[in-house]
Amino acid sequence: MTTAPPDGPRPDFTIVGAGLVGSLLAVLLARQGHRVELFERRGDPRRSGYEGGRSINLAMAARGLRALEAAGLREAVMAQAVMMRGRMVHERGGAVGLQRYGRDDSEVIWSVHRGRLNLALLDAAEAAGARLHFDRRLVEVDWDAGSIALAGPDGETRRHPAGLLVGCDGAGSALRAAMAAVADLGERFAPLDHGYKEVAIGPGPGGSFRLEPNALHIWPRDAFMLIALANIDGSFTGTLFLASEGEPGFSGLTDAATVRAFFEREFPDATPLVDDLEGDFFRHPTGLLGTLWLERWHLAGRAVLMGDAAHALVPFHGQGMNCGFEDALAFATLVERLGTGDPAALFAAFAAERKPNADAIARMALENYVEMRDRVDDPDFKLKQAIAAELQRRHPDRFMPRYALVTFSALPYAQAEARGIAQAAILDRLATGRADLGAIDWSLAAELVGRELSPLPASAHWRFPQALPT
Ligand SMILES: Cc1cc2nc3c(=O)[nH]c(=O)nc-3n(C[C@H](O)[C@H](O)[C@H](O)COP(=O)(O)OP(=O)(O)OC[C@H]3O[C@@H](n4cnc5c(N)ncnc54)[C@H](O)[C@@H]3O)c2cc1C
Repeated sequence: MTTAPPDGPRPDFTIVGAGLVGSLLAVLLARQGHRVELFERRGDPRRSGYEGGRSINLAMAARGLRALEAAGLREAVMAQAVMMRGRMVHERGGAVGLQRYGRDDSEVIWSVHRGRLNLALLDAAEAAGARLHFDRRLVEVDWDAGSIALAGPDGETRRHPAGLLVGCDGAGSALRAAMAAVADLGERFAPLDHGYKEVAIGPGPGGSFRLEPNALHIWPRDAFMLIALANIDGSFTGTLFLASEGEPGFSGLTDAATVRAFFEREFPDATPLVDDLEGDFFRHPTGLLGTLWLERWHLAGRAVLMGDAAHALVPFHGQGMNCGFEDALAFATLVERLGTGDPAALFAAFAAERKPNADAIARMALENYVEMRDRVDDPDFKLKQAIAAELQRRHPDRFMPRYALVTFSALPYAQAEARGIAQAAILDRLATGRADLGAIDWSLAAELVGRELSPLPASAHWRFPQALPT
């Protein structure tokens, strides 16, 4: 292995990781006229094909769309997205029902393909003037010299002068490790004892959908669940979320017969749609899940982290990418407002704005796992959802379901979490001992809403402008 001397002029920003967040940030900063260099350990997916690795498709919500809009990419991405109006819940007994996420089609989420989204972002980053370097894995930071060392596929390491370093290199961030070598970031990773596995549902004849496309399908089974999101080619990507150990657990699903028996017993209507169940199950890795908590996101005006590198979440609110895109937009907005003359102040302002919000969505995502797998088919949950919808109708200036605040609005996550706690207490009080909406005491409801909830700020009412494809 040889180490060449530093290569090329010093850019304004050096972004590590050209995944979803790094490539979006490169677009936003390059469009402001900054010299941006982006380093990615994998090959250029536009030449070598997209190397998946995890979650083939993702739920895009208003926050993500808002950031894409700022990058001029909304139309290109949405042309390939599939609308999801709500959860299509497949109960054990075979009953299937749609639980709408919002009030109408202005309150929906979108299934987007990770690979295609990444390609669109990379093209846009290059078009905006960012310099992209593939097959370049960050291996070392020389903090004194202000340079980084990157390894190529041949094992050779090259040094590059670094601008302001931004770590968008995901949950296993190498930049975070380099920062942690010189400062205590207060890092804690809390693994979830559940993992995930993807299985493919192919398209029907002529590219038709074999399940309702405009919904996020869930087979909730208390301790575990299967979900499926549509792709524009008529296929669906199914994901099984299951305990790593125990019964049932991934550790027990070790041979084809056991896997088939498990799927046929638990998901009898979905199993015939999975074309190569055993093949997918044993070919695809079992993904690990967890939450990354960090006390500190930046280092003395030298480096800052965002996206999964700063706050990996569990995926049960469908917000990891959305939150990372919101990070990128917030950072670019601060760069525009504050400039780069005092990077320590810039990074501190960014962390002060975003960390409380990332912490809040990390907590809400953990809670949502229990809701998705265990509660969506529960009568008490359905009654509370109905009460919440009615409270929103009666008191639209004060009450908005937490899911809507997180998913459709621009209210900061931390405020959505705080309002969610106050609203949950009101719902508990109103629903206790009641079996249906007719038995609810609406004058008590009005009193509680008026007393416990302040008027919603304008950002809660923000909605993405419609006229989007279905
Ligand atoms: C099963 C699952 C389902 C999900 N579903 C959703 C969803 O529905 N909605 C949603 O909003 N979010 C979802 N997420 C979360 C989402 O995938 C992440 O939040 C998002 O990918 C984070 O983007 P990122 O750019 O920060 O990190 P990543 O996507 O991990 O990208 C990091 C990039 O850095 C590169 N890299 C890593 N190390 C180095 C190095 N040393 N040098 C150079 N480059 C490096 C990697 O190759 C990669 O390209 C889901 C996650 C999982 C696991």
